[in-house]
Amino acid sequence: MRPIPVPSRYNRVQMTASHPTSNSPQWLTAPQWQGSAWLWHGFTTRPGGLSTVYNPHGELNLGFTPDDDSAAVAANRLLLAQALTGDPATPIHTVRQIHCERSVVAGRGPWNPPEADGLISAESGVLLAILTADCIPVLVADPVRRVVAAFHAGWRGTVARVVELGVARIVADFGSNPADLQAAIGPGIGACCYTVGAEVHERFIASFGYAAELFHTVDGNLRLDLPEANRRQLLAAGLAPGSIQRAGGCTSCHPDLYFSHRADQGRTGRMMSLIGIRPAIAQ
Ligand SMILES: [Zn+2]
Repeated sequence: MRPIPVPSRYNRVQMTASHPTSNSPQWLTAPQWQGSAWLWHGFTTRPGGLSTVYNPHGELNLGFTPDDDSAAVAANRLLLAQALTGDPATPIHTVRQIHCERSVVAGRGPWNPPEADGLISAESGVLLAILTADCIPVLVADPVRRVVAAFHAGWRGTVARVVELGVARIVADFGSNPADLQAAIGPGIGACCYTVGAEVHERFIASFGYAAELFHTVDGNLRLDLPEANRRQLLAAGLAPGSIQRAGGCTSCHPDLYFSHRADQGRTGRMMSLIGIRPAIAQ
């Protein structure tokens, strides 16, 4: 894999090829969480896995898309749970993502995915997962209170402040101090590729005082910096600038490495961004 350029405001990207064999899941990690004793996390990529619908060599599609064989997706999820936690039975909790502002609290019990775009948990032994193929995944961890969260932010969810409100909920419900929180923004469509219409611009201008700083124009096309919009929400929620990192780059620029809704013209798989609390190891 080749290195991916990352804007200078973020700490350097770290790519981790976790296993050497061709069908093994691979994921990116955030530097601040590497080697963490209490945390599991990762942003999956396209290579590896058993899905052959988008590439005959096998890919790690983790979304139950209309095109893919659901048995292959289920097998990919087991491979991922095994690779990330050492146990294929580790539950991966998802939500039915609807581009809204709602986050839900998840535990170890039976899970019927609700409609939401954020997951929060203080329980160990569970992976929280967001599925994306251009939208922005954001993972948050509180190493003091031991709380984790995962958010899905496309432009609609960003306008709805899913990340900002989700962090506020962590603070309100779990007693976290925003200054203790750490975040990682994963691979998603960048300002280099994300052309949007006037209605998106209008919604952002109406919603955020800093909205003008999120847009620029190239050849008459309006481009939105969605990762930066979500970094601003993390800052607005009280995180320190140095606690916000970026893992991975633009999905649309690297369709070999990432599933991209735009680059693949809508027919593509889904990556997972996961975070969880490791179970305590008996002494
Ligand atoms: Zn791009």
